[in-house]
Amino acid sequence: MIRNVVTFHYTLRDTAGQVLDASIGGEPVSFLEGASQIVEGLEEGLRGLNAGVKAKVGVPAAKGYGERDESQVQRVLKALLPVEGDIKPGDQFRAGADAFAPIVTVRGVEGDELLLDANHPLAGVDLEFEVEVVAVRAATEKECEHGHAHDVAGCCSGPGECGSSGGDHNHGAAKEGGDCGKPDCGYKN
Ligand code: ZN
Repeated sequence: MIRNVVTFHYTLRDTAGQVLDASIGGEPVSFLEGASQIVEGLEEGLRGLNAGVKAKVGVPAAKGYGERDESQVQRVLKALLPVEGDIKPGDQFRAGADAFAPIVTVRGVEGDELLLDANHPLAGVDLEFEVEVVAVRAATEKECEHGHAHDVAGCCSGPGECGSSGGDHNHGAAKEGGDCGKPDCGYKN
């Protein structure tokens, strides 16, 4: 099977039309087909599109960042968290030192306790992507091996060995909304 690397620009809105994220004005996003680098519904919508094509892709939450899971909202003693200073509802931080640690959102502050929500910030949100395909090319052997797209600078971890382990290497705005955590990674939002 031939797998492609697709490079595209996107604007992401919720169903009310509010812009949540966009690559316009920055670098376009590249992903390797079938590697779960971007959300499922968007990959489906981009499949088969050629360079230069503009399209609107509606992605229901279930094929985006998933439905909300209320059991992921938990009460935690503030003192147990490695966070300094004032904490207020809406604050977000990583639940661990690892760059892939989940992002938690503070839903409430009640005395010594915080209500922490480990759902993805976009869980339960229906997404509207406006995309423009910049380029489509066949993936290299290395990319298929690594399970992610390489940019012109090569693999995310620099020349030589790829430091990531395939599928969980989710840089690319549409999936994690951040860079891959490696200092020389070319992907930034
Ligand atoms: Zn790589």
